[in-house]
Amino acid sequence: MPSNFAIAVHGGAGTISRALMSPERERAYHQALEQVVQAGFEVLRHGGLALDAVEVAVRLLEDCPLFNAGRGSVFTHEGRHEMDAAIMDGRNRSAGAVAGVRNIQNPISTARRIMEHSDHVLLAWPGAEDFAREQGQAFQPDGYFFEQSRFDQLQEARITNTVQLDHGSQPIKVKKLGTAGAVARDQHGNLAAATSTGGMTNKRYSRIGDSPLIGAGTFADNHTCAISCTGNGEYFIRAVAAYDVACLMEYRGLSLEEACRIVVHDKLAPVGGEGGLIAVDAAGNLALPFNSEGMYRGTQTADSPLVTSIYKE
Ligand code: ASP
Repeated sequence: MPSNFAIAVHGGAGTISRALMSPERERAYHQALEQVVQAGFEVLRHGGLALDAVEVAVRLLEDCPLFNAGRGSVFTHEGRHEMDAAIMDGRNRSAGAVAGVRNIQNPISTARRIMEHSDHVLLAWPGAEDFAREQGQAFQPDGYFFEQSRFDQLQEARITNTVQLDHGSQPIKVKKLGTAGAVARDQHGNLAAATSTGGMTNKRYSRIGDSPLIGAGTFADNHTCAISCTGNGEYFIRAVAAYDVACLMEYRGLSLEEACRIVVHDKLAPVGGEGGLIAVDAAGNLALPFNSEGMYRGTQTADSPLVTSIYKE
C-alpha cells in the first residue's frame, strides 16, 4: 500500500483578522482551498507526479479571484497586472519561471513550459509572453483580471504613496500578503513546488518579488524538501528563504519542522520579513509555519484528511 504522499497549498499570508472577515468570505476561502487540495491530492492518489499535482493546484488558485495570482492578481501603479511564477521538480532540480508577464491566464503553466521546452530557467516581460504564445498558452484580455476590490486598494495605495502587499476587500491598514503556492510528495518519493503571484499592489518599475526566484520563494529537491513561500518578497529574496530551509536540513541535519522554524521565526521575523511558507520533506512530513496573523492554507496526506485553515490555531 503506497503511503506518505502529501500535498500542502497556500493562498497568501498576512494580517488576516477574524474580526474583519465576514462568515461568507471565510466560507468562500475554505471552499476554494478545499477544491484546490482535492484536485492536487487526486493526482497523487492515482499515482501521478508531484509536479503535476502542484501545477494542477496552482492553476486552480490562479483561476480563483480570491487569491493574488493569475485572475485575482493585484494592480500595479499603472493599473495593470504583472505576474510572477515558478515551478521546480525535485527529481532533478529542473526549474522554470516567469516574471512580470501580462495577460497570461496561467503563468504557472508557462513556467513549466520554460522548464520543459526551453534551455532557460527564468524568462521575463514581453519576451516571456512571446514564448508563451509560441507554446500555445492561453491569454486573457485585461478585463478578465479586473477585480473592483483590488482596484480600490490601488487607489488607496496611490493616495498614501505606499507599495502594498495587501489584497482582498479589507481596508488597506489590514495587511494581507497574497500569493498562491503548492508543494507535494508523490507515491514515488518525488517532491515538487510551485508558486504564483501578482506581487504587490502599486508596485512599479517592473518590480519582481521572491516567487519566481528559485531558492528565494520556490525550491524543490528530492533529497531534502519542497518549499513555496508567501510574504514580503524583498526579505525572502535577501534571506534566500526557500533554499535556506533545504540547507539547514542538508548541512545541519535538521528536521523539516526545525529548519522551517529557524527560517520563518528566527531569521525572517526579527528583520521584518512577514509571511510564511509551506513545506514537505522526502518522508512526506508537512510544515506550514508563518509569523503573520494568518495564512490561507490546506493540507491532505495519505494518512490524514483534508484540512483547511486561515488563522493561527
Ligand atoms: N511574495 C510575494 C511578492 O513579494 C507576495 C506575497 O507573497 O504576498 O511578490
